[in-house]
Amino acid sequence: MDRQLTIYNSLTRKKEIFKPIEEGHVGMYACGPTVYSDVHLGNCRTFIGFDTIFRYLQYIGYKVRYVRNITDVGHLVDDADTGEDKISKKARLEKLEPMEIVQKYTNGFHAIMSKLNVLSPSIEPRATQHILEQIEMVRDILDNGFAYEVNGAVYFDTQKFIKEKGIYGELSGRKVDELLAMTRDDLKNQDEKRHPADFAIWMKAAPEHLMKWQSPWSEGFPGWHLECSVMSTKYLGETFDIHGGGNDLKFPHHENEIAQNVGACGHAPANYWMHTNMLLMNGRKMSKSDGNTITPQELFSGDSVHVSKGYSPTVVRFFMLQSHYRSTMDLTDEALQAAEKGYRRLMEGYKTLEKLAPKKDATDGDVGAEILSLIEAAFVEMDDDFNTPKAMARLFELTNKINALKDGHLDINKVSEATLQRLQTVMHDFIFDIFGLQEEADCESNDKMNGVMQLLIDIRQQARQNKDWATSDQIRDALAALNIQLKDSKDGTDWVME
Ligand code: AMP
Ligand code: ZN
Repeated sequence: MDRQLTIYNSLTRKKEIFKPIEEGHVGMYACGPTVYSDVHLGNCRTFIGFDTIFRYLQYIGYKVRYVRNITDVGHLVDDADTGEDKISKKARLEKLEPMEIVQKYTNGFHAIMSKLNVLSPSIEPRATQHILEQIEMVRDILDNGFAYEVNGAVYFDTQKFIKEKGIYGELSGRKVDELLAMTRDDLKNQDEKRHPADFAIWMKAAPEHLMKWQSPWSEGFPGWHLECSVMSTKYLGETFDIHGGGNDLKFPHHENEIAQNVGACGHAPANYWMHTNMLLMNGRKMSKSDGNTITPQELFSGDSVHVSKGYSPTVVRFFMLQSHYRSTMDLTDEALQAAEKGYRRLMEGYKTLEKLAPKKDATDGDVGAEILSLIEAAFVEMDDDFNTPKAMARLFELTNKINALKDGHLDINKVSEATLQRLQTVMHDFIFDIFGLQEEADCESNDKMNGVMQLLIDIRQQARQNKDWATSDQIRDALAALNIQLKDSKDGTDWVME
């Protein structure tokens, strides 16, 4: 690899030089959404953050296997080991099957990700598809003596783990110290646990529970933290390069993931832990309970008291890239308006650049040299823990140069043909490939294309229900002739353009 990357590792709380386990390859896991409600903008921030990291790693030449899961079981309402399963609860309220809830909100999540031009991960595993592997990991942890069974539930034994391994709490620090200071008197209604810091890795299901599986301990379901330990190990190996998520997941989720992996196979899952910071709105935490919230759809359409107008998905993405992933980000109408202006200035600069004609035989004078050093500076910013706002600032300095070359304030005779070409390539690559921005018109036509495809899928579905095979085949064949393949599965029909 030509470029040297530095990554802030939440585990050591330091920037470290990135050394992949296997030269030229990166294994990366990011915790995906729990699909019991519409994806919110905070989630979008985190997924855009990891998408940009995924894009940059690939751009600089790594072969990346990026795993982003779908949580469809085990995440309880209060995040600890009490309360109803979030998906079961929604299924009960909406009078739907849990898997209908999962499908509905997974589809919605994918639709928003595609609007924001977030690439599909390499693998998107679901927790319910890995129940067997989760049962195996519970067994391994029990066999190694780091868990105990009580009445059909299995709990991770944090006290024994700390005594023997001495590492619990490294990622989240103080929070765990507070927890460890608690005594049995603090257990309240969780008195099956030996210590309040212990957490469930297998839970016994109540008779009315909708999602449950047979296991050696009880008919039940896995604890929320277990799925990520299992799916990351299955697809990336026992130790892989990068594990990420929003920083609200450091504790208990990621802390417990580390404990489970060490408990099961003796070593930690990831070498580098990366955490995105939270999205705020008007200076406060975005929260449904006090109305300080806006959905991605409302932001795109402008249908909300919090914004004066709608903002295209690509402007929203641009806005998010203007903060470093480790800083909090405050969503306000003024900041979005400024982002829209900035985005349009950048795109206009790019169009101007495409039209700049090189001067034959020109050699690089001071202008050419400055352009080359700004280009290198933009990459250096990205190499420094993926600093998108600073890299963006370099692109704006380049945009100033482009405009000055066009207006004649800078001399195009001092820019060689090779440098101009490199500038064109780099601006294109940064805007479209690394930052994942799009033309606003493309956003609209993507929307229209998605709408038309959904209509065709619905008509074909109706034809199939009416046993009108001629119409259903006609739709499939006509789309195939346009290199659009329909993919039927038990969960519905998807389409891909080949
Ligand atoms: P969840 O569906 O709640 O499990 O969240 C999915 C991902 O979004 C996780 O990585 C969370 O850490 C992240 N996330 C949740 N809320 C926010 C927020 N307000 N800002 C940034 N990321 C968030
Ligand atoms: Zn996770």
